[in-house]
Amino acid sequence: MPLDIVPSVCPHDCPSACALEVERIDGRRIGRVRGAAAQGYTRGVVCAKVARYAERQQHPERLSHPLRRIGEKGLGAAAFVAISWDEALDEVAERLTCAAQRHGSETVWPYYYAGTMGLVQRDGINRLRHAMRYSREHLSICSMLSDAGWLAGVGAKRGVDGRDIAKSDLIVIWGGNPASTQVNVMTHIAAARRERGAKLVVVDPYRTATAEQADTHLAPLPGTDGALACAVMHLLFKEGYADRDYMVRYTDDPRGLEAHLAPRDPAWAAPITGLSEGEILAFARLYGRTRRSYIRVGYGFSRSRNGAAQLFAVSCLPAVTGAWAYEGGGALYSNLGLAPIDPTLIEGLDALDPAIRLLDQSRIGPVLAGDPRDLGNGPPVTALFIQNTNPMVVAPESGLVHRGFRRSDLFVCVHEQFMTETAAMADIVLPATTFLEHDDIYPAGAHTYLQLGRSVLPPYAECRSNHEVICGLAGRFGARHPGFAMSAIELIDETLRISGLPAIESFPEGGWLDCCPPFETGHFLDGFAHADKKFHFRADWRAIGPEHAQLPAFPDHVAVIDEGDPERPFRLVAAPSRSFLNTSFNNTPSSIAREGRPTAFIHPEALAKLGLADGDRVRIGNKRGSLVVHTRSFDGLQRRVVIVEGLWPNHAFEEGIGINLLTSADPGLPRGGAVFHDTSVWLSPA
Ligand code: SF4
Repeated sequence: MPLDIVPSVCPHDCPSACALEVERIDGRRIGRVRGAAAQGYTRGVVCAKVARYAERQQHPERLSHPLRRIGEKGLGAAAFVAISWDEALDEVAERLTCAAQRHGSETVWPYYYAGTMGLVQRDGINRLRHAMRYSREHLSICSMLSDAGWLAGVGAKRGVDGRDIAKSDLIVIWGGNPASTQVNVMTHIAAARRERGAKLVVVDPYRTATAEQADTHLAPLPGTDGALACAVMHLLFKEGYADRDYMVRYTDDPRGLEAHLAPRDPAWAAPITGLSEGEILAFARLYGRTRRSYIRVGYGFSRSRNGAAQLFAVSCLPAVTGAWAYEGGGALYSNLGLAPIDPTLIEGLDALDPAIRLLDQSRIGPVLAGDPRDLGNGPPVTALFIQNTNPMVVAPESGLVHRGFRRSDLFVCVHEQFMTETAAMADIVLPATTFLEHDDIYPAGAHTYLQLGRSVLPPYAECRSNHEVICGLAGRFGARHPGFAMSAIELIDETLRISGLPAIESFPEGGWLDCCPPFETGHFLDGFAHADKKFHFRADWRAIGPEHAQLPAFPDHVAVIDEGDPERPFRLVAAPSRSFLNTSFNNTPSSIAREGRPTAFIHPEALAKLGLADGDRVRIGNKRGSLVVHTRSFDGLQRRVVIVEGLWPNHAFEEGIGINLLTSADPGLPRGGAVFHDTSVWLSPA
């Protein structure tokens, strides 16, 4: 019998937004998932975790019915009983209404993030928020710092088409690990290496799977990439690799930059970064003499108090050499700003009152602890309605987060696919559809396509989509907005119309609309996205965020990181693993089998000094707490660096709390942002 293959789009929090081909079995289940061969970026490749999506889709522990908690918080499924949808939604509506009557509407905090990247199912929660005047959410946990850094120089959230990588002679993967987390980048790198003999350089604090494949791996200390970028640019100027004609035409202040960089030579950067002067020199020369050099800018090195400044410094490199001007040259951080989508209808922005307070999602711990600065001197948060995220694991400063969720005066509703640690703390849990069971539209960070993903399976058991739940609650509140009366497809259709984009019917077969601009625009030859059309070497941080005072205008090493001290000599990076994606997939058998157990990668000399060996238990701690993991002796990092890949569930750790116990909720500069990779710790034998 011929296979029933249906098109779809990967919804997960990954820039690749792969176009998928899904084997559908008897109309209710799926088999293998493959990348769509005809989509020019996916090119038939998907990561292993999504290839085995059947494990997640048909997981025996998927939530199937609405649940009310009758037992202890945190216990899991045993603490809940099944109830009807009407009972569940009535209760949620009543509890949110009571909370708002008692404390004012800002006491309710709808809380979400990127469990799906589809615009309708991810962002529709904002329509309910604004219509009900609930507290707003500062979306700081992932891209706030990186966006700030990129916007400072380039001015818009777009860059050179990822397919250009295949036409490059030098690819620099800076602060990312695509072999593990964004496999499609490797497809295009492989083409460049095969067809052009391109070189691959990876800049990352540890020897990742991507770095293993590189010609050169530079492993700076976490939080020092800005210093590396400055020393490279110093050499580009000094040794004649800077394209002065290009800079005069396309940048704001090349002379000022050159003067600023004069003292920032490799001898200055070496002790800051822990790299040798020779390593910096060799990389600068390779970068300087290669016109078609393409920097794929990752998120990793932005997750630091100085992350925006670091990313800004790296984005300056192609503006010094003029690499932007060449096919296969330039840089890409994200193309999420490419498709001109108007979010007004989906997010209910026409109902938004900017006077309503904005709570920082990364600081959910301090928010739930009642820190008056975080609450804007307003009412406490006494009701959370959560979709698409698992803050009990993913948010920094987990100790505070866990205490907050245990508050007896806090009502929590979680709409989820699984009984996550956050769902286990809820009063009401609602079962959610997967991307295969609802309609949505997906822009992408890594490529230029806007893609439609239609439902290909009926909802599992009693699952409902985010959109249905939002509309169901809006109906109970009597909330008014045209979006509440529309289907997901109608919302997509109308959003495309108001955005001036082609209607769904005119999307090419496969559902992918390529929004790739012409070469001149993609490479900024018709100007960068600032009013003066120049790339800015002088960042206007004041225009980007309020906490700008410590950020210098020119690219630099901004020494505001958690450097450590004799009590906390190690720098911890809580990096993403290959088989999990945040906390998605950390419950599928093949992912768990591949990842093993929570593990600290520690340099063999550091291990020996601690009197530990490979596989021993080690306690990692700082002022926020401590936890135990097993060691792996690993020489692909500096002696001061420790890597713990994740995100493992809390229960995978001996004491029931995961790695974000150690990370700080301090906001990065200049407008917040989580600093997951900026953590100093001590180690001791457990
Ligand atoms: S690489 Fe990313 S976008 Fe592609 S299938 Fe895997 S998680 Fe999804």
